[in-house]
Amino acid sequence: MAMINVKGKTVYKAIARGPILVMDKQEVAITDATVADVEAEVARVTEAIEIAKAQIGKLYEKALVEVGEESAAIFEVHQMMLEDEEYLDSIFNMIRDDSMNGEFAVKMTGDTFSQIFASMDDDYMKARAADVLDISGRVIRVLTGQADVSLDSASIIIADDLSPSETVQMDKSKILGFVTVHGSTNSHTAILARMMNIPALVMTPVELSELETGMEAIVDGINGEVIFNPTEEVVKEADIRIAAELEKRRMLETLKGQETVTKSGQHVHLYANIGSVEDVEYVLENDAEGIGLFRSEFLYLGRPDLPTEDEQYEAYKKVLTAMGDKKVIIRTLDIGADKQAESLALDKEENPALGYRAIRICLTQPEVFKTQIRALLRAAVHGNLSVMYPMIISPWEVEKIKEVVAEVEAELKAEGLEYKMPEQGIMIETPASVMMAEELAQLVDFFSIGTNDLTQYTLAIDRQNEKLDLFYDAHHPAVLRMIEMTVKAGHAHGAWVGICGELGADQELTQKFLEMGLDELSVAPSSVLPIRKLIREAE
Ligand code: PEP
Ligand code: MG
Repeated sequence: MAMINVKGKTVYKAIARGPILVMDKQEVAITDATVADVEAEVARVTEAIEIAKAQIGKLYEKALVEVGEESAAIFEVHQMMLEDEEYLDSIFNMIRDDSMNGEFAVKMTGDTFSQIFASMDDDYMKARAADVLDISGRVIRVLTGQADVSLDSASIIIADDLSPSETVQMDKSKILGFVTVHGSTNSHTAILARMMNIPALVMTPVELSELETGMEAIVDGINGEVIFNPTEEVVKEADIRIAAELEKRRMLETLKGQETVTKSGQHVHLYANIGSVEDVEYVLENDAEGIGLFRSEFLYLGRPDLPTEDEQYEAYKKVLTAMGDKKVIIRTLDIGADKQAESLALDKEENPALGYRAIRICLTQPEVFKTQIRALLRAAVHGNLSVMYPMIISPWEVEKIKEVVAEVEAELKAEGLEYKMPEQGIMIETPASVMMAEELAQLVDFFSIGTNDLTQYTLAIDRQNEKLDLFYDAHHPAVLRMIEMTVKAGHAHGAWVGICGELGADQELTQKFLEMGLDELSVAPSSVLPIRKLIREAE
């Protein structure tokens, strides 16, 4: 195949070269076609089940290191399910008795078992419905030759689009770059790419069916293109540029350990955003002064059940301990809209971004919220914790949150458990919260402006909708004015104000943010040193 060059929209300006991994999620049509040799089909399915078990084994090992034994245990359950006699008998009987093809037999069995689990009274058994679908889907993917997301060697991921639950399962040390056919510059894949300092393109019209895993490619986020099967000359040129980028990075490294302060002495707290415990490594590597946004929802994604209090406590404790006395701001569950957690089984909505999400779920499912607050208060003793709440629109929500926190505190005290009250703040990411900032500032210690959502709700532009990129103006004066209003209101009532949305890392706005008097910027780890450089150069 000759060299192919496809233009895309840059999400992160970096360049990388390596083999590709094509994640073609085109639904494979499963038919009820019969097979002639039933024993050969039984053997094919048996082999696929063994491969699926091996894949799950790898996921178990990975989860054990990253999220601890309790979370990893679900993969052991998955392996056991694939050894369950009733499950296997059902599949093999369908093949032997009805000459059914393997994919169809696995699907039918998975669906039937899932329905049986779902109809049980016991909550634990009910939750297994999603697991049986998960394992059956995995076996079908093996049977149909679809790639698994677990990576064997460092690769450039090429996909139609990626959901947060898919990326959360990937071994990040093996991702060289992302190229997606869909997705917007503001999607969570984009956020992940910026965090990892790797090139990424979205809205890239590649034909997935024409590509093959293992093919060589160059993702060039600087010129906004991906090149498949590059010629020797193009490879040489790319390698020179990759080396130059590395050199630039090395220069920035000299800013490690330096203060983030302007020439006239204005200090800004420069923190980093993370989405999982393992991301702390990037925070420390880039010398951020704290964590300004820990998106805790990663704990809830890509799994069929809710994380327990102890599991969450262990995860938060790990982050706090790793950060020592540096500030760690953990945001409570922000699920819904583009981030779906199986365990909450949220209904499909007409307008998910305007729907049942974030604090709205927490305040109406107090048991889910209280479990997280208990874990946070208990973990707080291990470091310098702040907690913040997403998607606030009204002061009563903050009052209600405070009631829940007080209840949790009383419970912990009564149980004699060790805990600490963290600093508490809210995200300002709805126009309503900006307009109510004076009142809200009196109820909290700090504001963190979520410009991703604030921009989407202010401009009435869905942050995921690539068709609207023309209208999406990240520097829209309406948004900048709102940021200024928020800073003024916060400062008037003793609340400090930061930005944790992507705009905080926009180098064209750094000077403006200094003038507005923002106290903190929380950016992708890869942006920490470039922003520190700009601030140190400012007057
Ligand atoms: C935001 O909305 O700006 C934000 C930081 O939150 P998220 O991107 O997770 O919605
Ligand atoms: Mg948000």
